[in-house]
Formats: sequence, C-alpha cells, structure tokens
Amino acid sequence: MSDTVKKVNLLDFSHEGLKAYFTSMGEKPFRATQIIKWLHQLNVDSVDQMTNISKPLRQFLTDHTVIRAPEIVMEQQSSDGTYKWLLRLDDGNAIETVFIPEDDRGTLCVSSQVGCALDCTFCSTARQGFNRNLTTAEIIGQLWVAKRALQADPKGARVVSNVVMMGMGEPLLNFDNVISALRLMMDDNAYGLSKRRVTLSTSGVLPALDRLADTLDVSLAVSLHAPNDELRDQLVPLNRKYPIKDLLTMCRQFLNKKTTERNHITWEYVMLDGINDSDENAHQLAKILKGIPSKINLIPFNPFPETRYKRSSNNRIHRFRDILAEAGYTVITRKTRGDDIDAACGQLAGQVNDKSRREIHFARIER
Ligand code: SAH
Repeated sequence: MSDTVKKVNLLDFSHEGLKAYFTSMGEKPFRATQIIKWLHQLNVDSVDQMTNISKPLRQFLTDHTVIRAPEIVMEQQSSDGTYKWLLRLDDGNAIETVFIPEDDRGTLCVSSQVGCALDCTFCSTARQGFNRNLTTAEIIGQLWVAKRALQADPKGARVVSNVVMMGMGEPLLNFDNVISALRLMMDDNAYGLSKRRVTLSTSGVLPALDRLADTLDVSLAVSLHAPNDELRDQLVPLNRKYPIKDLLTMCRQFLNKKTTERNHITWEYVMLDGINDSDENAHQLAKILKGIPSKINLIPFNPFPETRYKRSSNNRIHRFRDILAEAGYTVITRKTRGDDIDAACGQLAGQVNDKSRREIHFARIER
C-alpha cells in the first residue's frame, strides 16, 4: 500500500457509518459494533489490540485506516482539581478541553470548533477568531483522550459521567459532526451516557435548533445573557439575526416536541457588573421566561486579559438569584472552577492559526 493513499480515521465514523463501510466491502455489520466497542469503550489506539477481529480484516484496517485522536500537548491541573488539556490537531491548530471533577460526577467540557465566529463581547474564545469546524474524530477524540488520561492518572481514576458542549465554538454551526459525536457519546456500544448527561449549549442558531429538535434528544442549554434585545444585541451579536422573541418561540417548540428528556431548558446568564445584573434585568428575565419550563444558570463572569467587563459582586448575584427564585424559577449559580489555570467558562483560548476567517464564516451564517 502506498503511503500516498489517505487513510481514513476510524474515530471519524459514527456507528452507522462504520456499518455502512463494512457492508460496502462485504463484511458483516456486527464487525462495526465490535470495533466501536474497541475504540470507544476500551479506547484502544491500535487495530492489533482488537483480538476478536480476524487477522485478514485487521490487516485490511491497518492498511487503510488509522486511529488518530487529538494529541495532548499540555496538561494543567487547577488547585480545585479541574484539568485542562491543550490538544494539538493535525493542522497545527490547538483546542482546549476541560474536566471538572465533583463529588457525584465528572463533567467534560468539549469544544466544537477551532475558535468561534460568534464574537460575544464577554468571551475570550471570541478574541481568537474562527478557523474551522472540528471533525467528528476531533470532537469525540476529546472524550477518548480524556478517558485515557484520567485512567492513567496515578491519583486515581476519575470517570467522565457528563459531557457539556460548552468549550470553544458554537456547536450548532458544526451540526453534522457534533451530532455524530453526540450519538457516539450516547451509544451503549460506545460511551453509553444517558441523554440527561449530555448537554448542548448554544447561543441560538435558530434553523439549526429546529433541526436539532427533530434529530436528537440531548439536554439543551441556551446562552441568553440578557432579557431584552437592546442589551443582547451588544453582548451576543447573533441576536441581531435571531432576536429573543424568535429564540423563545423556537425553544418552546423544542420542548413541545417532547420526550422525557426534554422537560426544561437551561438558560445561561453571565453576570456582568453594571451591565445585565440589575433588579430590573432580573424582573424582566422572569417575565420573558414565564411559561417555559426553565432552569436558570447564573455564571459569574470569568475575566481574561484586556476585557472591559467585571464580575458582578456576590451580593448582586444573590439578589438577582432571589428575584428569580421568588418568581418561581430554579436558579443555580455556577461555581467558578479552574480559573487559576484559565479553564473557567469563557476563558478557553487554544491556539488558532489564521484568524482572518471569521468574516467568511459569518457570511455563511447570514445565508
Ligand atoms: N457557543 C456556545 C457554547 C459556548 S458555552 C454557547 O454560546 O452557548 C460557554 C458558556 O460560557 C456560554 O454560556 C458562554 O456564553 C459562557 N461564557 C463565555 N464567556 C464567558 C466568561 N468570560 N465568563 C463566564 N461565562 C462565559
């Protein structure tokens, strides 16, 4: 086999896709299930380890495929136990993935794009610009790599029990690859996470949200951050295209296409001192969400160099929370984790080559 033939990456396959691949070459589809288990339950990095696969098929796979996940180039651990990995991709770009251990769970925060095109004014990823979408292999590869790293940790293995698509990027602008990766996360032959434990977070790309409602059951978090368009236009520029009223209508529809998993929306609301944290903002928020089964997640702003924003005071956050709670909402103030290693929400940066492509990507969203 010549080296010039491009080998396919086995981590790029969905379960269905691998079945089709094997069927097309006259193999039985159950081989795909066996291989998915090797790849995603046992996280092997070589076809030679797949001992229940015949030698000729292993040889074929060795000749035609690779198992290539992003490579850890830096690991940092916060004083609170949070891990952050810098992962190098084949093209030299790098992304960040964060693991947040808690008493009852371990949450992996996964990136969907290299950089981000949305340009939210309070987010450090936005300042990196946008380079490209991650492949399925690069998205599921973050879980694959994290599992292996955690198992190898001498301080005792931690388990990834939850995944949140809250790393770098806007997952709904990389729809197909994100969906393939989410399916693997929830596949019993792969990572087997229940739908309650897999959360997609979006700023509200409405056509894609509509598609998601018909495609897959995952928990949904929406980055709202403001209770009116005037303010949200400033904080989340995507709002100029998809304003709050339309966003709320789409979210209601999402919940109405109901399954047991879709019983509420989690609203993310970053607490910015003097910007969106007044009593009036809280009352307005309570009003616009009325009638939508909701949980509200207040995120104390995490600063980064040269930001113009400050975090709201604890008193302000408590007051804001109390107003919403009095209006009947479940409100959680997100604990700041990993901020000493810049691993907290909105602090992920990675290394983005060629940052000039945001305009191109925006043009695509506009269509
Ligand atoms: N693009 C998706 C995924 C990013 S998730 C989305 O917008 O939902 C990351 C979450 O952290 C989002 O709610 C985001 O708005 C929030 N965030 C971004 N920058 C932040 C910062 N500096 N401090 C706190 N939260 C931030």
